[in-house]
Amino acid sequence: MLDQAKSQLKHYFGYDEFRSGQTNIIKSILTKQNTLGIMPTGGGKSICYQIPALMNDGLTIVISPLISLMKDQVDALSGYGIDAAYINSSLTETEIRATMQEAEYGEIKLLYIAPERLEAPSFKQMLNRTSVSLIAVDEAHCISQWGHDFRPSYMKISHMMDAFSDRPPIIALTATATPEVVHDIQRILNIEEEQTFISGFERENLHFSVVKGEKKKSFITSYLKQNASQSGIIYTATRKEADQLHSSLEKLGIKVGKYHAGLSETERKAAQEAFLFDDIVVMVATNAFGMGIDKSNVRFVIHHNLPKNMESYYQEAGRAGRDGEESDCFLLFSPGDIHIQKFLIQENQHDAVRKSADLAKLKAMVDYCHTEKCLQGAILHYFGDERPNYRCGKCSNCVDEREAVDITKEAQMIFSTIKRVNERFGKTIIAQILKGSRSKRIKELQLDHVTTFGLLARRTQQDIIDMIDFLTAEQFITLTDSKYPTLILQEKTLPVLKGQIAIHKKVSRTPEAIEGNDELFEKLRTLRKQIADRDGVPPYVVFADSTLRELSEVLPTSRDEMLKVKGVGEMKYEKYGKAFLDLLDSLSSRHQDEKPSHLTTFELFQDGEEIPMIAASRGLSESTVEGHLLKAIEEGLLEIDRLVAPETEELILNEIDRIGVEKLKPLKEALPEEITYTQIKAVLSKKRKVTK
Ligand code: ADP
Repeated sequence: MLDQAKSQLKHYFGYDEFRSGQTNIIKSILTKQNTLGIMPTGGGKSICYQIPALMNDGLTIVISPLISLMKDQVDALSGYGIDAAYINSSLTETEIRATMQEAEYGEIKLLYIAPERLEAPSFKQMLNRTSVSLIAVDEAHCISQWGHDFRPSYMKISHMMDAFSDRPPIIALTATATPEVVHDIQRILNIEEEQTFISGFERENLHFSVVKGEKKKSFITSYLKQNASQSGIIYTATRKEADQLHSSLEKLGIKVGKYHAGLSETERKAAQEAFLFDDIVVMVATNAFGMGIDKSNVRFVIHHNLPKNMESYYQEAGRAGRDGEESDCFLLFSPGDIHIQKFLIQENQHDAVRKSADLAKLKAMVDYCHTEKCLQGAILHYFGDERPNYRCGKCSNCVDEREAVDITKEAQMIFSTIKRVNERFGKTIIAQILKGSRSKRIKELQLDHVTTFGLLARRTQQDIIDMIDFLTAEQFITLTDSKYPTLILQEKTLPVLKGQIAIHKKVSRTPEAIEGNDELFEKLRTLRKQIADRDGVPPYVVFADSTLRELSEVLPTSRDEMLKVKGVGEMKYEKYGKAFLDLLDSLSSRHQDEKPSHLTTFELFQDGEEIPMIAASRGLSESTVEGHLLKAIEEGLLEIDRLVAPETEELILNEIDRIGVEKLKPLKEALPEEITYTQIKAVLSKKRKVTK
């Protein structure tokens, strides 16, 4: 049976093997036992119910709380040639009825619904008349009151099951797995311990980094410069920070969007769409963004501020690299952020027990920022996935080989300044004293009399502040919890002040480019974007980044070779295969002394391709393609009617008679605005042909 499942996997999705976590879940569900699968984000949960759905005769109902995702999921399945549909509140009654009828007649394999639908009488009636072979419960943690996302209507699932005379099996899937939640799911959905499969929490393709004591904005801009065309998310703690960062990145010419709860529904939707369709590459957002985002080619997630706990952090960072390609997750740590998170916890409405639990979670988050052990290992440890001596070999702790400079002297000066002012001031004042600032406030407070005044005059004030941040991050200094936090020395500063131990700070990081984006990959990506725009789907729905990467490495030359590439199934090949093969072919050296380039363009045009598509699939600019077509017109191969309508041609000819053909610009200006240079040139080429 597993072989059959594998051949479906290959046929539809173009993957050769199930991932380790998927096999057991699929085996269990194919023997019709209720099954629970727990896998990290990007682990491949959907395949666990989609493959059984394709192998069964009847309908699979997928219950999901994420209405915004349903359309994308159904579109993606259609892309694979799978009949799927959804019903939710975004549709009209008539549309819903039509879809339910299709389900009843066996015209669709998968039907996505929100849990609330289970209560609708018309839905219940449909179930009675339909052969249902599988119930998939996505985001199954929503069933548990212990989960962070409890949905009362999920409780209705067990009622629905009672209504079946012949109960179909249930497959429940989630990425969240505290023991209480697992227990609730098992109990409510009737799932045995033996049929519960927990995959590791490890995400092998993510490179985790904690960046301390760096200027956040310059770090981000230099990273974005290195990775200009990569898609990524930057999370900020507040709307205001999102707005500020967004506008400063926009000024640098970066294609950036923003998303937070302060924007209108329409603005948020537009930003989300633009991000999905790769029209903007970077999204600056608060944590309001991301739930229900299934974009697989997110190459980096940067946390501009400290998140409130490890659960949120891993969920947000985990939105990078769902397609399995190497991706970056940066957390930009500054000690002041702890203060903000503490403040938010104190201010919220929760009771004392919950507040102290929240503070404990925050502490674990801060510990993560300070650990010198492997970061992925620290995450696994937090989630109870224990692996002694684990090293990912990719995180900022595993690979940090930066040169360290001795800053003991500077640290001593900073510590003694803090001591001399009796720990009454924050980092700006301390930095100003050391810098030797003559500001009004320093004078008023007579801080220019402190003995360390001006000792670091050769450094910039910002440099000194960065050093203070670093020493705070390293826990030599702490901040008070007051509105204007002041700096307090910790015991571990004593041996430093006595000259018994030294402090080293690694030189600033220069962010690196994500590996392997060569020219060929970029050309494949341009073609993918053209096709996606033509078909009105997000680019990653056409092919994942991993598929493009493999295409650029394998360079397939035939259908069979292309079908061997990961992510190319039959349907995808039918739809897009030729365009990609053509591009690879036109770029290959085999091609060099074959027929003239303009003839290839001409043939593609005759096949019905439009100019932008031809340009993308041949790796040429649009103006080159136009040049090819004009040549074909002059040679009498191509009629101009597809480029210029007869009435337009007449208009242009009239103006040519009147003005002449010496210069194009006067012609263009004399003609209606919608007539393009290309059209004028096409008419001229035709004239040239006639006069030849
Ligand atoms: P999840 O819902 O667990 O976050 P998805 O179901 O969205 O994850 O899958 C994440 C990505 O992994 C998708 O791009 C999917 O096509 C890919 N994927 C799933 N199963 C496999 C597999 N067996 N081999 C290769 N890629 C896979």
